[in-house]
Amino acid sequence: MSIEILFVGTGDAFGSGGRRNSAILVRSAGRTLLLDCGPTTAAGLKTLGVDPREIDAIAISHFHGDHVAGVPFLLLDYLYQNPRSEPLEILGPAGTRERVERLAADFEYGVDPDGAFPLRYRSFEIGRTLEVGDFLVTPTSAHHAPQTRPHMLRVETDRRALFYSGDTGWHEELPDKVGDVDLFVCECVYMQAGAYPLHMATEELVRTRSRFRCRDLRLTHLGREVLDDLDRVPFDTADDGLRITL
Ligand SMILES: [Zn+2]
Ligand SMILES: [Zn+2]
Repeated sequence: MSIEILFVGTGDAFGSGGRRNSAILVRSAGRTLLLDCGPTTAAGLKTLGVDPREIDAIAISHFHGDHVAGVPFLLLDYLYQNPRSEPLEILGPAGTRERVERLAADFEYGVDPDGAFPLRYRSFEIGRTLEVGDFLVTPTSAHHAPQTRPHMLRVETDRRALFYSGDTGWHEELPDKVGDVDLFVCECVYMQAGAYPLHMATEELVRTRSRFRCRDLRLTHLGREVLDDLDRVPFDTADDGLRITL
């Protein structure tokens, strides 16, 4: 079974280059999983002609706003603009439910579906695989701001697998965590290594690429430094709206 990937948002937290914040739609066998949900996600889905109701589950990698702050807006959409009756699952680090409810309250939105559609939350445990339709989602730890409870996610069907870095800096275990997937979607904010250890840099990936066993690697969460020098980046990069099939 193939996996279709639609990059909804490929920018960093600052919207560098006019890009949307992190959000990646993953489709297989009529099921849709959204990896991260930055604040620009609802607008992105509509720009790309995606009906938000096709999303069966949202997986949040960590609690930085550019990855999670769009969830209350999607819930709002499901209540007022595109009413849904199908169940929705939200997967994320421990405390995701409280985080989403707190964000919605801070935004002054009442987003409790109150029976309009079933809403279920499930928490990540390192190494424990969650089944979402035909998808298997396996979280691992990331090297990122610890208070955000950072995770990376392996997403697989019976035939294809991808690995999503969420936000992470380089760490020695990273190539083994990624494993032999078809595609590694890796965040990359910087060109020069060492600028900020909690994000990736192209220099780091050039140095270590041979240690990764993934078939393909594609960069996302692109920072200003990378975008300013895109011609010199020796890796595939994702743009908002890019579609690829594994
Ligand atoms: Zn981020
Ligand atoms: Zn982050």
